[in-house]
Amino acid sequence: MTESASVIHLSNHLIGIGPIQEAWCKSDLTAAPTIRYLGHAGFQLQKGSYSLVIDPRSKDAANTPCDMVYCTHRHIDHVGGVNAILEHNPDAILIGNRQVTAKFSKWGERVVTVSAGEVFNRGPWKFEFINCQHGLFKGVIDLGLLARTSGLTFGHCGDTVTFDGFVGAQMDVFAIPICGVLAASPKRAIAELEKFSEQMPYVVVMHWLWRSPNRFARRFASQFPDSRCTVPSDGEIISF
Ligand SMILES: [Zn+2]
Repeated sequence: MTESASVIHLSNHLIGIGPIQEAWCKSDLTAAPTIRYLGHAGFQLQKGSYSLVIDPRSKDAANTPCDMVYCTHRHIDHVGGVNAILEHNPDAILIGNRQVTAKFSKWGERVVTVSAGEVFNRGPWKFEFINCQHGLFKGVIDLGLLARTSGLTFGHCGDTVTFDGFVGAQMDVFAIPICGVLAASPKRAIAELEKFSEQMPYVVVMHWLWRSPNRFARRFASQFPDSRCTVPSDGEIISF
């Protein structure tokens, strides 16, 4: 079953995305959403037959079914799988900030540029884009994602040193980096999460590089005994 994507409202703009077809069913709306960790900062969110891939690091992600790929920023460890995904999934589109989409302009109409504060609806998902702050490289635009569907609100902030834009977003699951330098350090991540107070989401650790995610998880548990934190393995389905 298909539905024409036709015209999508982005802020005050109208952006036509041409002949692209959206492959999803109305029954997708009632299916339970799932989250799968793809390694590094990569995730696949599935709602019924509709699959969203976030920050695919390598072409290995091409084996993941995909209707839409979203990249928080242009660094290779977040966009390395984009070409392979678009090749293997002829109906899939790429969404990203202007630095990301500039890198993949060869895909023409299958690439859609978004900015902070915009809302984008596709399939059973509603997306919001949040300005984040990449560590070290000040010129890099890091645009976090809030992906909402019935049964799940998932937050992904890319490589950011502050989680400010996500405080109060009422997420079910929040993926956070802890590597330091490029993003929040373990210590900084705890300090940032303290800002969430009552609405502390379920935290999934990602992008830890040389840090110990398990040590972070223990620190999290002692700091926030009533909240949950998980360290996922590559390919793992995350229960929430
Ligand atoms: Zn990165």
